[in-house]
Amino acid sequence: MALTVDTLTSWMNDFAGKIEANAQYLSDLDTPIGDGDHGFNMKRGMTAVQEKLQTKPTDLQNGFKTIAMALISTVGGASGPLYGTAFLEMAKKTSSTDDLGELLDAALKGIEMRGGAKPGDKTMVDVWNALVPEVKNGTLTQEKIDAAVEASKDMIAKKGRASYLGERSKGHIDPGSQSSGYLFQSLLETEGL
Ligand code: ADP
Ligand code: MG
Ligand code: MG
Repeated sequence: MALTVDTLTSWMNDFAGKIEANAQYLSDLDTPIGDGDHGFNMKRGMTAVQEKLQTKPTDLQNGFKTIAMALISTVGGASGPLYGTAFLEMAKKTSSTDDLGELLDAALKGIEMRGGAKPGDKTMVDVWNALVPEVKNGTLTQEKIDAAVEASKDMIAKKGRASYLGERSKGHIDPGSQSSGYLFQSLLETEGL
């Protein structure tokens, strides 16, 4: 599936809406196993992204770069540089492809490189790792997104703030997995993708 400036913009606007609507929920998820700011961090970031995208990007690469820079400069915490890296890697990858699955694959590799988390460490990497192949195969569904987010609950955190809790991180959904779940949900709901 080829991404365009218009579908990228629709995708981001949809994602910003989900983040806005669920900011409190995301921060509530971050309260027992973190510092309770994930939703507010992401809301600040996606508000900035939406503002920047009001000026239509000249091309896909420029669009991804704009999003990455807005996230890096406003989100903060662990998730800001990680989401920022994801979008920067997609920007780079547009030199060789506009295929959504390929772009998301590059983003996942970037997140793994930047944060050093592996699948099973109870981070957003788990959701990306589970869902990028589904996008590539054209088999992404809401059920698979829900299952990927829910799977973080039983994991013991090995990276990020939640890892300070060790075993006690078990039984809580990882906030970054949930926000990444919304990003994939927005893909499903964006017309033309
Ligand atoms: P902070 O923990 O600095 O307050 P946020 O609350 O915004 O940052 O983001 C927390 C989320 O970031 C976690 O739920 C997790 O999914 C993700 N995360 C944290 N560390 C890593 C890492 N090393 N690799 C991948 N994702 C990570
Ligand atoms: Mg936090
Ligand atoms: Mg924080």
